[in-house]
Amino acid sequence: MTVPTARLVVPGQAGPVDELPAGPQPAEWARAIEALAAAERPLLICHVNPDGDALGSMLAVALGLARIGRSCQATFPGRFFLPALFDGMPGQELLVPASDCDQAPDLVVTFDAGNTERLGELAGRFGTASEVIVLDHHASNTFFGTVHLVDASAAATAVLAEELLRRMGIPLDREIAECLYVGLSTDTGSFKYGTTTPEVHRLAARLLETGIRPEVISRRLFDNRPFGAIGLFGEALGRARLDDRVAGGLVWTYATQADLARHGVPYDALESLIDVVRTAAEADVACVLKELESGQWAVSLRSKTATDVARVSVALGGGGHRYAAGFTGTGSAEEVLGQIVALL
Ligand code: AMP
Ligand code: MN
Ligand code: MN
Repeated sequence: MTVPTARLVVPGQAGPVDELPAGPQPAEWARAIEALAAAERPLLICHVNPDGDALGSMLAVALGLARIGRSCQATFPGRFFLPALFDGMPGQELLVPASDCDQAPDLVVTFDAGNTERLGELAGRFGTASEVIVLDHHASNTFFGTVHLVDASAAATAVLAEELLRRMGIPLDREIAECLYVGLSTDTGSFKYGTTTPEVHRLAARLLETGIRPEVISRRLFDNRPFGAIGLFGEALGRARLDDRVAGGLVWTYATQADLARHGVPYDALESLIDVVRTAAEADVACVLKELESGQWAVSLRSKTATDVARVSVALGGGGHRYAAGFTGTGSAEEVLGQIVALL
C-alpha cells in the first residue's frame, strides 16, 4: 500500500522535521464509521501494558458506543492488570480480560498500537472481522488492518478517537472527556512536548468544557507514587550518569527488580522515573532501563530536540515516537546502553 506523505512542521522547531504519512482521508473515516454502524460484536483492543493514551482512547470509544446503545468489548493482551494510576477511570466496567473476550468478533478496532506485536495474543482475533480499524499515531505504524485512521502528526491516539466520535455524531460527556484527557495529557507529557499544537489546546479546552477536573485527573496520573518510590527514585537518580559520547548529551540510569523489592514498590512505579531523569539540562537524550527479569530491560528513551529516539528504538526491536520511544533490551545495563550509544 502506498501512503500519501505531507510535510509536518513542528511548532518551535526550525523547519519541517520529517516526512510523515498524511492523516486519514475522508474515505477512510467514512469506511470506519460504516463498519462501526454495521458491527454487532465489535472488539476493541489496545496495546500491551496499556498507558494513558492506549486505555483512554479505547475506553472513550467504548463509552461512546455504549451511549448510542451499542455493545462492545474492550480488552488488551497479557496480564489483566492496570496500575493504580488508572483507578477510577471511567469506562473500566467495559473491560474484559483477553482470555474471556469474544473469539469471533465481526469488527476489530485497535488503539495506539503501531504493529501486531503490541497486540500480543489478541492479534490472532482478526480472522472473523470484516474490517480491522487501526487508530494510531506512531510514524512506524505497519498498516496491519483494513482501515487505517493513522496520523503520525497527532499528539495522541486520543486525538483520533475524539475525531471518530465527533464524526459519528456522539457528543462528548464528562466520562468520555476524562478518558480522552488522560490520553492527551499523558502522551504530551502534560502539554509539554513539541506535539502540543494549538489544536491540542483547543481539544483540551473542549474536554474541560464538559466539567472534568484537570487537577483531580493530573494528581491521580502524575502525583500518585507510593512513598517507597521516593526512596527508590533517590537511589536510581543518585547513580545516574551523563554520557557526552552522544551529541547533545545522554543522561541515563537503571532500576532493578532487587531495587523494587528493597523499597517495596510495584514495577509500574518506575514509569515516571524517566520524567525526572530527562530534566537534566546537559542532556538532549534521556534513558531509563527498568529490569523486567535478569538480563531483560524495558528501556525508555526521551529526546528534547535533535535526536529521533524512535529510530533508535525501532532499530533495537521496539517503537515509539520521535521524542518518546522504547524497546526491550537484553544483556547487562551497560551492554544495552552500548547498543543505544552505537545508534545515536
Ligand atoms: P515508555 O518509555 O514505556 O513510556 O514508552 C514510550 C513510547 O515508546 C510508548 O508510547 C510506545 O509508543 C513506545 N514503546 C515503548 N516500549 C515499546 C516496545 N517494547 N515496543 C514498541 N514500542 C514501544
Ligand atoms: Mn501508548
Ligand atoms: Mn499514544
